[in-house]
Amino acid sequence: MTDQRTRSFWTWGFTEDEPSDSQRQEAARHISEQTGKEVLPPPIPAIADINLRKPRLSIPAGLTDWVSSDKHERVVHTYGGHILELLKALRGQFDNPPDAVAHPKTEEQLERTLAWCDAKGYTTIPYGGGTTVVDGVSVPAGSEGAVTIDTDGLNSILEIDDVSRAARMQAGIFGPDMENQLRPHGYTLRHFPQSFPWSTLGGWIATRSGGHYATNHTHIDDFVESTRMLTPAGWMESRRLPGSGAGPSPDRMVLGSEGTLGIITEAWMRLQKRPVYRATAGVVFSSWQAGYEATRAIAQAKLWPANLRLLDPVESARAAGMDGKSTLLIIGFESADVPQDAYIGHAVAIARDHGGQIENSDILISDAQGKSTGREGAVGAWRDAFIGVNAGVSNGLGMLSDTFETAVTWDKWPEFDASVRREVGTALKDVLGPGSSLSCRFTHVYVDGPAPYYTWSGPVAIGTEAQAWQHIKNAASNALVAHGGTITHHHAVGRMHAPGWQIQQPDLFQEALKAAKKRLDPNGILNPGVLFDPD
Ligand SMILES: Cc1cc2nc3c(=O)[nH]c(=O)nc-3n(C[C@H](O)[C@H](O)[C@H](O)COP(=O)(O)OP(=O)(O)OC[C@H]3O[C@@H](n4cnc5c(N)ncnc54)[C@H](O)[C@@H]3O)c2cc1C
Repeated sequence: MTDQRTRSFWTWGFTEDEPSDSQRQEAARHISEQTGKEVLPPPIPAIADINLRKPRLSIPAGLTDWVSSDKHERVVHTYGGHILELLKALRGQFDNPPDAVAHPKTEEQLERTLAWCDAKGYTTIPYGGGTTVVDGVSVPAGSEGAVTIDTDGLNSILEIDDVSRAARMQAGIFGPDMENQLRPHGYTLRHFPQSFPWSTLGGWIATRSGGHYATNHTHIDDFVESTRMLTPAGWMESRRLPGSGAGPSPDRMVLGSEGTLGIITEAWMRLQKRPVYRATAGVVFSSWQAGYEATRAIAQAKLWPANLRLLDPVESARAAGMDGKSTLLIIGFESADVPQDAYIGHAVAIARDHGGQIENSDILISDAQGKSTGREGAVGAWRDAFIGVNAGVSNGLGMLSDTFETAVTWDKWPEFDASVRREVGTALKDVLGPGSSLSCRFTHVYVDGPAPYYTWSGPVAIGTEAQAWQHIKNAASNALVAHGGTITHHHAVGRMHAPGWQIQQPDLFQEALKAAKKRLDPNGILNPGVLFDPD
């Protein structure tokens, strides 16, 4: 790693993010109490004890400064961030690692690496932070030699254009490093996916990531001014423009390409001033329906709150300590320039019109000097739970949980939600039993529909996690697509969601995209099986 941190091979991020032994023991105690079965945290294997297949390729002498078959490198790049991948890592199962890992520090080194992979026909896997939860960075079955290209050596902000308020950044920059470099200039990208500490600009662009703001500019798409990508057929760089109606946009082809068309090396990104005015309110509803009707009305009033996060009763109990019957709507506004009192006032008035309850003293308003009135109420508890996520703490302890997310138009929403809960609820009972739970929140809200994010969990027999997960995942994916949603709103497609993606996209579009891939990646080396099988 060029920045001295070491990636963790069994949890998200770096070794410094790994849960401590005592945190894992505490989680085990908690799960033992919940399930009535005593469990202990599984031991974490030492890399030295992991059996790894011998590399199936030899690295040309001219590339060895940045390409290696070092065991540690191959182990930490075997998996992405899905819980089942992390569980395999925790159990020391590394059956299909990459044969070599490259860390190019210049575009010339990247060109030479990709040319080598292309000439030899090696499967080539672009790698940012490795936080993919959709099987986007693993070596596919059938590959006869695989090279992971980690972009962490391309991690600088190269230029800031203060006049247009944009910056040219390299793709391998991690979220916090980017914000730390922008802060002295008074800017922010203002794109905060929940994986922000461990993911990169290139990964965000490649997967069309969604930030945690609920409305208006929140997707990485909104901030991309131009992109630069190396493909096996050469460089593809778009022109910097604030907007353009000149035919199909090259950036639209790069966004969401998930490492199948090329390796994004740079992008010009639109920046924003750092917000200083803020207003927040947590409004309580007696029913889920009243909550989502209010949310729709606020979205359709086009007030563009930064946060408009609706938590169903299960979520609001778990994440904000509420009574298990109430729905919580968290509304937040922020701006670099304009006091937000009036906006929050309008949004709260709409929420009250729909039966929402909130005391005026529970509306927190801060001005540019950081002076506040009101208090935060349930919102503070929710924020702590949201930010404190840590994988690995309870993995392998007999409790299985995961999430799936989508978006659907408002006209379909009530029936959609009921069907998803019914069908996934049945699958949960089939394999996890009556102790399972399913909950929902809205992560993003559009004028024409919400992006619901479902979380499920339940006790599982240790060793059967993968089969149980697959049964539930099939039910969830089938329900999302069958009832008119998208297979993913922001977690991306990878190999995991490829079948659902293929159902929802027009056949001709997929054929056209494959033809484009054939032009850019004629030997089909880049991420085969992600999005589609190139053949
Ligand atoms: C705890 C957690 C929370 C998450 N929260 C969110 C969230 O709030 N919003 C959201 O959108 N997603 C979220 N994700 C999913 C994931 O973080 C995103 O998909 C993210 O954009 C991946 O970035 P990365 O740098 O880790 O990319 P990686 O995981 O390394 O790669 C993702 C895909 O992009 C390709 N790729 C990576 N870099 C490049 C490049 N430079 N050029 C071409 N292709 C490339 C890879 O081959 C792979 O297919 C979350 C994941 C976790 C584990």
